[in-house]
Amino acid sequence: ALPVIYAITPTYTRPVQKAELTRLAHAFRQVPRFHWIVVEDSTTRTELVARFLARCGVPYTHLHVFTPRRFKRTGMPRATEQRNVALAWLRQHRGTRDAGVVFFADDDNTYSLELFEEMRSTRGVSVWPVGFVGGRAYERPLVSGGKVVGWYTGWRPDRPFATDMAGFAVNLQVILANPRAQFKRRGSQPGMQESDFLKQITKVTELEPKANNCTRVLVWHTRTEKPHLANEPKHRKDTVVIEV
Ligand code: UDP
Ligand code: MN
Repeated sequence: ALPVIYAITPTYTRPVQKAELTRLAHAFRQVPRFHWIVVEDSTTRTELVARFLARCGVPYTHLHVFTPRRFKRTGMPRATEQRNVALAWLRQHRGTRDAGVVFFADDDNTYSLELFEEMRSTRGVSVWPVGFVGGRAYERPLVSGGKVVGWYTGWRPDRPFATDMAGFAVNLQVILANPRAQFKRRGSQPGMQESDFLKQITKVTELEPKANNCTRVLVWHTRTEKPHLANEPKHRKDTVVIEV
């Protein structure tokens, strides 16, 4: 059987949340052997997300953990706690006999179906290009003789792993074999979450290049514009309550 792809999606309540999750579900429901781990940044599982997931057609696990207010300042890494809760769930509910690949799928990115075909064969840690990050049209691992030898990036090329969250996948067994590996807040500079995590579980020389030796962009770090809601009435004017 194919290894299961576990996509970890942190998500939080805002006007576009359901639209974002809808776009992701339309891609994910077409991927065979896929398990969506959705982690709400919330004190509870919200009704909106629970109802959405129940109807979305993707096998899923619905978790939640609230980010403390002091960690919600600009320039601080986002969704650290949510990703760690998902890793803890995998370590509790999956074992050495389970074949899987773990991927971090933020709720506002855009995913090609081909990306999942590429990451499925990840034996340790695999990497590929990501569109619209690092202040450039794309960032990518530089490959020579089938090995990663550096990074093409416009931002902090000194990062040991100059990749975005959407630019790598990890075999489930690597997650289980490194039970203490997690995303860090303490001592983690903005934009260093990926490097800080990856250096706990792999070496640059061991990375597996995907997407034709990292020459194809199959995922884009898109960001959704905030909708204009200036004309929303202060008190409900419509005759019915409608979930958006
Ligand atoms: N996120 C979250 N809580 C927050 C802010 C963001 O759970 O307070 C989630 C968000 O839904 C997304 C991920 O964390 O899945 C990364 O956030 P965002 O896309 O805003 O970051 P950026 O694109 O700027 O890296
Ligand atoms: Mn984003």
